[in-house]
Amino acid sequence: MTPEDLNVSCCFCGQGLLYKDAAEVSVCLTSNIEEVQGLYAHTSCFDKALHESVPRLLDNLTNAE
Ligand SMILES: [Zn+2]
Repeated sequence: MTPEDLNVSCCFCGQGLLYKDAAEVSVCLTSNIEEVQGLYAHTSCFDKALHESVPRLLDNLTNAE
């Protein structure tokens, strides 16, 4: 099994998806940037969660689900 075959859970909808199809969201407090929590999400869920004014860095946000 390769990392791409792993199943992860979307942090927004709770459903499973393949690691290779997921967006990874790294979260840390600005007061403590040394501790980071990695979360996974469908790119479409991530896109829906962001306010429309937030620039998207990923070109394929809606390609995978
Ligand atoms: Zn989702």
